[in-house]
Amino acid sequence: MRIFDIISKKRHGKALSREEIFFSINGYLDGTVADYQMSSLLMAICINSMNDEEIFNLTDAMIKSGDSMDLSSLGSLTVDKHSTGGVGDKTTLIVSPIVASLGCIVAKMSGRGLGFTGGTIDKLESIDGFKTELSIDEFLKQSKEIGACVISQSGKIVPADKKLYALRDVSATIDSIPLIASSIMSKKIASGAKSIVLDVKVGSGAFMKTTDDALELANTMIKLGKAFDRNVCALITNMDIPLGFCVGNSLELYEAIQVLKGEGDLRLTELCTSIASQMVACCLNIPEKKALNLVKDSISNGSALNKLYEWIFAQGGKFTKEEDLLSAKHKIDYLSKNSGYISKIDAEGVGISAMLLGAGRIKKTDKIDHSVGLFFKKTYGDFVSKGEKIATIYINDLSLLDASIKALDNSIFFSKDLPSTQSLIFNIIK
Ligand code: URA
Repeated sequence: MRIFDIISKKRHGKALSREEIFFSINGYLDGTVADYQMSSLLMAICINSMNDEEIFNLTDAMIKSGDSMDLSSLGSLTVDKHSTGGVGDKTTLIVSPIVASLGCIVAKMSGRGLGFTGGTIDKLESIDGFKTELSIDEFLKQSKEIGACVISQSGKIVPADKKLYALRDVSATIDSIPLIASSIMSKKIASGAKSIVLDVKVGSGAFMKTTDDALELANTMIKLGKAFDRNVCALITNMDIPLGFCVGNSLELYEAIQVLKGEGDLRLTELCTSIASQMVACCLNIPEKKALNLVKDSISNGSALNKLYEWIFAQGGKFTKEEDLLSAKHKIDYLSKNSGYISKIDAEGVGISAMLLGAGRIKKTDKIDHSVGLFFKKTYGDFVSKGEKIATIYINDLSLLDASIKALDNSIFFSKDLPSTQSLIFNIIK
């Protein structure tokens, strides 16, 4: 078998066999397939796509490139969630304690943020002492005892994805449905949970720009999940505006606590209760309505918030009061340069503004500043007068302020008329 022939076959729109797919993935991992060959193959896949069987084989080859977590000792109530990425997306911090308080088990691996998007692990590390690297035994023990444990993605799980993702990132081959679906689902399946809830984002701040594309991606991932004997469902949700009011690691944890206290932003709360109820319905095999009631009760009776603290302490976090999460040295008002209704908040631009304060990484090796970020006081559809406060900028190094403000200036748009209401959840599919 030659990689040249495989590239040529896909370039001409033909389906690849299981053997050809395994040959390409294994060859890329062991170095016998070069970067330039793999990037040609990826581009051919982007252009000519793959059928269901090819996508299954690609996912299987990726899973078999490394280790898989064995969660069988935790029983059948393990549940994971995945969001296709976004700005201000702190849903894992909120839904994990909710569903754990209802008897489900979230034994999960998460990633760090790169570029303008945030990562759950960085958010958790904003808590002093919180350990994101645990041994497998510690991970399983905490998951069993507390029902929630989130650790950083092990390099041994789906190593092929790590190498392929880095190549896709620099070869304009990220936004392909077979490649995204196999990348996400290989990691989810290898992570071991029996039920998986996917939050597929659509909009300016997401990979999928149209609902049709998001639906196709969601359906592809659901088919893959079923083929690997998992219960999977997907929500298609709006990422045209950032989620919630806070962007930045410790600020997002602060906001997660507000939601669990029942005092959070309504859109963020609605998204989290919807994701959590799908997780509970899927995991406990109960009707969605019943699951939603249980989820709402767990917030109103305080059990979800207690579970968050229990989880943080179990993982070594030293946390006293939530105000400590708002500890940046300077708090600077960002004032409106216009009068009018806020008609657009560009999620990517806001992510970049927070990143420029030090909340995110430009390179993987960059150190981040957990305490900086943006706390919006106004949102999409609000009327603001010129000079009125739109956000508070939490910053430590004032030399970074101008660039961050400039990014914000370019991300907030105004209109004379009240803009139309934006849906939050477009679809839920199984
Ligand atoms: N997230 C992933 O893990 N992989 C992709 O390809 C896109 C988003």
